[in-house]
Amino acid sequence: MRRLIVAIDGPAGAGKSTVARHLAAHFGLLNLETGAMYRAFALKALAEKVDPADASGLERLSASTHIELEPTPSGNRVMLDGADVTGSIRDVEVTQAASQVSVHPAIRAWMVGLQQQMGSHGGVVMEGRDIGTVVFPDADLKFFLDASPEARSQRRYEQAGADTSGVTQTVISKELRERDERDRNRAESPLRPASDAIVIDSTRMDLEEVLSHIESLVAEKLGTTAPQAAPGAP
Ligand code: C5P
Repeated sequence: MRRLIVAIDGPAGAGKSTVARHLAAHFGLLNLETGAMYRAFALKALAEKVDPADASGLERLSASTHIELEPTPSGNRVMLDGADVTGSIRDVEVTQAASQVSVHPAIRAWMVGLQQQMGSHGGVVMEGRDIGTVVFPDADLKFFLDASPEARSQRRYEQAGADTSGVTQTVISKELRERDERDRNRAESPLRPASDAIVIDSTRMDLEEVLSHIESLVAEKLGTTAPQAAPGAP
């Protein structure tokens, strides 16, 4: 069976992580959330008091930083210099800092190298902003998931209700717009669909619809509807 590379890109709150997790489980692929790597590095920059605008300070910091993603059925465990930081990378401050550190070309080059290494054996669903354009331009399948800003902030708000208290929808909506703007307008690898990406606007679709559409395209690509054996599975 071919070792597939599936790229999923799109703005925040479009449902990339949920879709990637389901696809990985269905087809026995490894799910790699590249945004978590930028988040982990941002967490370290904040802890070390390196300004997210200070390109050379960040580059120096990156030289002594080790980031790993460990896929699990419920998402990625994120290791920063050997410590599990999964629970600390989702708050508003780290989220904004992640999008600030990610504008710097040297930081992107470092991350892209790590991501290419992680996906080099295939059998992965990798999600982020530049997977289909930069990290794996030859990916077997590329999806660009989008939705209106209103739908995306509504979804984020509903998710936050479950795990963060005291975050208002206005705060989430503002945070999302700022990040979108920065991600789409940065000079280096701006967020945009690859020319050969399948663009899916999920504003009026529910998760099941999006998933069944994507799953049928992946199954078609594999030439089978049978799930792949999970790498490392017993
Ligand atoms: O996907 P997530 O929301 O966790 O990503 C956090 C931030 O990391 C994004 O807003 C974006 O600025 C940056 N990012 C990126 N390239 C990726 C993944 C994330 O620039 N491949």
